[in-house]
Amino acid sequence: LAPVGLTPARAAAPAIGKQAPGFYRYKVGDFEITAVTDGAATFPLPDKFVNNQDKAAVQKELSAAFQPTETVTVPFTPIVVNTGSKLVVIDTGYGPGALEATKGRIGQFHTNLAAAGIDRASVDTVIISHFHMDHISGLRTADGGLAFPNAEIMVPALELAFWMSDAELNKQPEGYTKGEFPKIRKVLAGLENKVTKYEGGKELVPGITSIFTPGHTPGHHSFTVASGKSAVIVQVDIANIPHLFVRNPDWQVVWDVIPDVAVTTRKKIYDMAAADRTMIQGFHFPFPSAGYVEKDGNRYRLTPIPWNPLI
Ligand SMILES: [Zn+2]
Repeated sequence: LAPVGLTPARAAAPAIGKQAPGFYRYKVGDFEITAVTDGAATFPLPDKFVNNQDKAAVQKELSAAFQPTETVTVPFTPIVVNTGSKLVVIDTGYGPGALEATKGRIGQFHTNLAAAGIDRASVDTVIISHFHMDHISGLRTADGGLAFPNAEIMVPALELAFWMSDAELNKQPEGYTKGEFPKIRKVLAGLENKVTKYEGGKELVPGITSIFTPGHTPGHHSFTVASGKSAVIVQVDIANIPHLFVRNPDWQVVWDVIPDVAVTTRKKIYDMAAADRTMIQGFHFPFPSAGYVEKDGNRYRLTPIPWNPLI
């Protein structure tokens, strides 16, 4: 009912059809974290998305999470940590090389960084968790240049040794992991001797400590980011999308290089995070990809953090 004398507007508003730039900030002690989305991949659910489950079991769990059952969506969320003295990027997404082929769905990290007011040239350190393409490709610009020209790049020593080894390559059966070797080597070409190698249990930057969390890949690492009494575990790929792999910690995603070890690592870290009530940042969790895990029988449950209008 329009107030007397006013005519309601009847013009059809066009749908805008795109999201705002995706970044989200929160504090850990004195540190400022910015979660920055690289986008999300949606693809037909493969028959063997989970190595040790049939498709029907996966579809049942997708349905239980109110998700489509014929497709699966995997988000990608690198983060930036501003410690006050250092600006640190942890993982880099698929990078701008993927933007065109995916019509903007994937490869948004650099543009969203700019939208978040973060200049790539002012990044001091880039920490890489493992060498899968969704984590390293954003080291490069679309034309193949260095995306973080002034940054020290830190990589797990074990990961570098594995993916650069021809013996390891030749051992791989035909399949996903074998196919990743040449792609990874292309991204890292010329950087092999410039990167700083790290191990687990080392403080890489004041307040950021590596945790050896093998399985997803042989040299996969996660991180504790701690300031004052606050901390977040940057779990990276300890579990892929939570409605499948946090809920079912025994499930093995098709991309795991050493699946049994990945399961052991997942339970160990989640038991610890649940007991300590420590927040977790998950690279493949729905944006902004942070929350808390708790035990739920043999499973775990993720409670995402609520969106906060203030930092
Ligand atoms: Zn990943």
